[in-house]
Amino acid sequence: MWARKRFDLSWLDIGYGMIQCARIGSVDPSFVSQGWKDSRHAFSCLSVRTGFDLLLQALALPRGSEIIVSALTIEGMLTIIEEHGLVAVPVDLDIDTLAPKAEQIESLITDKTKLVLVAHLFGSTIDLEAIAGLAQRHQLLLIEDCAQQFDGMPEGKQDIADVSMYSFGPIKTATALGGAVFSVARKELADQLTQLESQYPKRSRSFFFRRLLKYSFLKFISYKLSFACFIGCVKLCGKDYNKLLKKSTRGFSGNDFFRLIRRRPSSPLVVLLARKLKRFNGKALEGQRKLGNCLAEMLQNDADYQIAGLQAPANHFWVFPVLVGDPESVELHLRVMGFDADRRGSMVVVQPPSGRDCPAPENARVILDQAVFLPLYYPMTLGTMDKLARAVIEGDPTQKSVPTQVDACVRSVPESLAQDT
Ligand SMILES: *Cc1c(COP(=O)(O)O)cnc(C)c1O
Repeated sequence: MWARKRFDLSWLDIGYGMIQCARIGSVDPSFVSQGWKDSRHAFSCLSVRTGFDLLLQALALPRGSEIIVSALTIEGMLTIIEEHGLVAVPVDLDIDTLAPKAEQIESLITDKTKLVLVAHLFGSTIDLEAIAGLAQRHQLLLIEDCAQQFDGMPEGKQDIADVSMYSFGPIKTATALGGAVFSVARKELADQLTQLESQYPKRSRSFFFRRLLKYSFLKFISYKLSFACFIGCVKLCGKDYNKLLKKSTRGFSGNDFFRLIRRRPSSPLVVLLARKLKRFNGKALEGQRKLGNCLAEMLQNDADYQIAGLQAPANHFWVFPVLVGDPESVELHLRVMGFDADRRGSMVVVQPPSGRDCPAPENARVILDQAVFLPLYYPMTLGTMDKLARAVIEGDPTQKSVPTQVDACVRSVPESLAQDT
């Protein structure tokens, strides 16, 4: 059984992290910022949610100010906006590019609007040019959420946002089981964030050690054979493995949310993150991008599925959301065929605030309701993609065609990806 996702964390990383837990000496998050290649100013902290909360503290906007946000995000971001007495106003996304339209953002601006928060979702990159122009014209701060989009440090890339936020939480690319880096255009703002962050209490080494142990276990069960065993065991205990997995990787859940995010990362986390960033190369993502494009081609040749984000300027398919007629039966059939696919992920559709006259984000709703997030990662091969595409189509009662073997794009893929290992 292919698990829904594999952690981007090697056994060597885990071992390195454990050794760091035993070392004495204190390392500040600025250690990560020093190695961050960027034309802006780097700020590092425990998580994107920690940093976003700090950012809103630093900006100290008047209560009732509005933030225009991409209509799909994670719940924590909305909790933070609310905590600061601010109002999230959703802007809908285009399904094919996952980008909000600049004109639509413009139509939502009032004299209360202060920020625009745009997320690059599912591994895709949005073209920010028009949105950045508009933010500048209206003197709004533009913040981009790159938590699902990391494909290398931003030096020399699209850096027109005022703040870009990168997450290295457990399910993210190049994870250190936590940590975040913000690229900040204005130096005074970066300094202010650093100053505020330095007052938080530090997470302990033993906390991080236990975290490494927990994710060693989760990593172990994410292999094909062990994952099947794990599901069997959980079933025997009468539990829902789906819920169990989601709960175990969420982080900062429960009533203690703000106490948990308002912390400094422990030294071993900082050192592990610095190592991951230094050693990062985009090769694995390149393979993933090729697999994703082939899978998309198969799904669209044999059926006419829409894949959210397929037309974005770039996409490495951090996850692969295919919109199907009957997601529940596709999910069940995939499980029978040896694929563990997720639905809904951990995202929410941002609802228009009550009493505010703005359109409900229909496309965001369609994406969350219709998407099945297909597993896609190394060491899957084109053979696996073929099985996966067939399983999706077979499992979808709204599709009638029986797929034929697709090998059109096999030739364009490196040897290592073309064989099942
Ligand atoms: C994961 C994620 C976050 C939060 O990142 P943390 O570092 O875990 O706080 C924020 N936004 C999006 C879109 C995410 O996927």
